[in-house]
This record gives sequence, C-alpha cells and structure tokens, in this order.
Amino acid sequence: MTDMRVAVLGTGYVGLSTGICLAEIGHNVICIDIDERKINKLKERKSPIYEPGLEELLIKNSSTGRLTFTTSHPYALNHADIIIIAVGTPQSDNGRADLSFLEQAAKDLAEHIIRDSIVVVKSTVPVGTNEYLKQLLLGQLKNKVEIKMVSNPEFLRQGSAIQDTLKADRIIIGSDDAGASEKIQEMYRPLNVPFLLTDVRSAEMIKYASNAFLATKISFINGIANLCEAVGADVEDVANGMGYDKRIGSAFLKAGIGYGGSCFPKDVKALLHTSREKGVPFSLLEETIAINDHQQELLVGKAQKRLGELKGKKIAMLGLSFKPETDDMREAPSIKIARALTAAEAKVAAYDPVASGNARKVIGEIITYVDSALEAAKGADALFIVTEWEEFRQLEFEALLDVMKQRIIFDGRNCLDEAALQECGPIEYYPVGRPAVI
Ligand code: NAD
Repeated sequence: MTDMRVAVLGTGYVGLSTGICLAEIGHNVICIDIDERKINKLKERKSPIYEPGLEELLIKNSSTGRLTFTTSHPYALNHADIIIIAVGTPQSDNGRADLSFLEQAAKDLAEHIIRDSIVVVKSTVPVGTNEYLKQLLLGQLKNKVEIKMVSNPEFLRQGSAIQDTLKADRIIIGSDDAGASEKIQEMYRPLNVPFLLTDVRSAEMIKYASNAFLATKISFINGIANLCEAVGADVEDVANGMGYDKRIGSAFLKAGIGYGGSCFPKDVKALLHTSREKGVPFSLLEETIAINDHQQELLVGKAQKRLGELKGKKIAMLGLSFKPETDDMREAPSIKIARALTAAEAKVAAYDPVASGNARKVIGEIITYVDSALEAAKGADALFIVTEWEEFRQLEFEALLDVMKQRIIFDGRNCLDEAALQECGPIEYYPVGRPAVI
C-alpha cells in the first residue's frame, strides 16, 4: 500500500478520530476546521475533547509530520486527493437533519478543489444526501476536475472512539463508482476490518437503521424495566436471561434513564422524519422516543414520591455527561433531570469527573458544580446516579452516606453494587426495574 494524501473536514469526535487513525496507519492527513480555537489547540498537540487514547496518538502522529491541522481549505485541499467530510448534522425543526454545515462544506470544496478527488461523506446523512451534495458541488466547481462520491458512515462510540476506529466491526462503503470504492478500501485496508460494499442510498440507510435499532433496544428494555417494577421482577436478571439467546444478544439491554448523546436522539428523529415525509408509517420509532423521554421523568417522579415536595430538598447528582468516558453534554439525560429538579425548587449539587465545564454551558448556574462526589453528597436528601462512571462504582459509600442528610440513593444506571451498599449500614436504594433495597 502506498500512503495516501487525505484531508478531513471537521475535527469533532468523528473527524478527529478518523484523521488521527488514518495517520496512525501511515497516511498523510490534514485536518481542517473552521473553529480556530480548536485548530490552535490541536497544533499544540492538545485534544479539544476528552477521549481516551486520543491525545497520545495525536502527539505521536503530529511528531512524525503525517498529521497536521489547518483552518485553510485551499491549503488542505491542495494537499489531498481523498477528502473526508465529517462535519456535524444536528437536529433541526421537526426532527429533520440540519444539512447547513454540509452545504457549506460542499461550497468550500467547490471553491478550492484543484485536482480530481474522491469525496467521502462520513457524516450521518438522510438517504439521498450524497446525491444532493454531489449536485451542489458539481454546480459550483471553480476548477475543471472530476469528483467521485463515496458514502462511508461512521459507527464509533464516544468514550472508545479510537479503539472503535482502529478495530471497527465493519466499514461500509457505498458508491456507484468501482474505482472510488476500491481506492477507499485501499485506504482502510491496514485496519483489517471487514468491508461491506453497497450502493450509496443503502449505505446512508445502514447508519440510521443501526442507530434506530440500538435506541429501540434500549427503550424496549426500559419498557420491560418499568413492567418489572410493577410486577416485582428484576430487569437485570431478565436482561441477562434474554441476552444468552444468540438471536437477541446481551448488548444494549441495560435498563436505566435512557439514551442521550449527539447521535441516537437526533438520528431516531431524523429517520422518523424521513418515514413521515415518505408517507411510510413507523410508529415504533415514536414509541422508542416516548419511552426514552419518560425514563428521565420517572427518576425524578420516584424521588418526588419518596421525598414528598422537593422544594428546598438537596439532591446530589453524580454524573453529567451523556455517558462515561466523555465530556460531551449533547442531549445528556442530566440536562432534563437537572431542569426538572430545579423546577421543583430542589437544590442540586452535581459532580462529574470531566464534564462540569461543558455542563455549565448547557445547564447553566441553576445547579451547583462541585469537585467531588463527597462534596455533592454533603447534607443531601438523596443521591442520583446519572452517568455510570467507573469512579462512582469505586466510591467509599460508607463515608458518602455518612455525610448525607438522608441515606437514599436513586441509581438511574443500575451500576452500583447492591450487596456492597448494604454493608454500609442503613440505606434506601432505588435502582431501575429492580426491587428497591429498604
Ligand atoms: P462535532 O460537532 O463534534 O464536530 C463537527 C466539526 O465540524 C466541528 O468542529 C465544526 O467546527 C466543524 N465544521 C463545521 N463546518 C465545517 C466546514 N465547513 N469546514 C470544516 N469544518 C467544519 O460532530 P461529531 O460528533 O464529530 O459528528 C460529525 C458527524 O458524524 C455527524 O453527522 C454525526 O451524526 C456523525 N457521527 C457522530 C458520532 C459521535 O459519536 N459523535 C458517531 C458516528 C457518527
């Protein structure tokens, strides 16, 4: 394999992980972003996001010269013959995917591409978007060059983005051009990951179908969890028993306060929007969303039922990020929970190992941010586990419970060791979908 010259547009979770990993397997990569602060930080070899293992590979590959960063589209595009688009596609009105960043990226490319190129769309985009972007690009091209498009959706998970990129389950390559498809396979070949070659529209759909399926699995087990509470069963045992069945599998059967993050919520809504637009009913997705929203309300409702009026009560909230090992607050369940608690005039002290800075920008000063779990717990009437950070599993609960006003825990992630908690003296422990310990 010869090393390839690649430009990556967008240095978010996906673009940055992709760029770094492509440099790691020997390619020459320039990452471009319009965010000057991000690029300056990256040039100093510091990661703008919390992502395990990322900064090490950033430093390593920057020092070989195979990985560079710029805000200049002409500079980067002059360098590359493969251009990977990894800009954001957030949610806009009615659940529709907002394509404005992609449209701007297409304009930037049209202006500055100076040689025949393969444009790879890695961003999650509704079916038909690759074709739309190609037309947009071709319609505005400044130079006479040939453009081939490849749809290559991304499946990495925040918190394990680097490992997921280096050891992906599969790489989807959707293209109607055999040469372009072969070239992108060649680019990824050192990863030794199975390829699935398909047409562009199917590639686009695979991403939405995968995320919607995983989100539905979570909502399904949460629906079962709620029933378990009503009938006195234990959802952890139920999920375990289900997971042994190879047709079901044990992954994504963890009951709790539901999914959040920058992908599942918006992708399920975008797929639902497509189904409505095409007049093809898909009410299962509506239920997936409804159950998810309900799970977060349920946690607060449980606290209200146990504590009575929340006005003036002090709640310790452990975890703010939408999942462990990330500082990303996009659509984090903690946002809704913090707002519901403070709307009921509870006083919330929150601790997160890495996400407090980002949480401040989203939740604001309606809650207090503290530097340790112990500090959050001081004088609390109840403690909520909102994100299942490993650090929380390892806490000295005896000391924590001792500083609380009432020894009550609501575990929104079913992540604490019930037996170990019971050894800490009197306690009330309320998990999700399991009998409470009182
Ligand atoms: P992000 O918001 O973290 O990063 C996007 C970056 O693109 C930002 O830094 C932004 O400044 C930059 N950008 C915007 N317009 C640009 C332009 N014209 N030129 C250069 N840079 C530009 O987004 P993300 O989380 O990395 O997601 C990117 C895409 O990948 C989305 O479509 C998302 O749905 C999809 N995806 C995300 C994940 C994930 O876990 N985050 C996983 C799989 C797929």
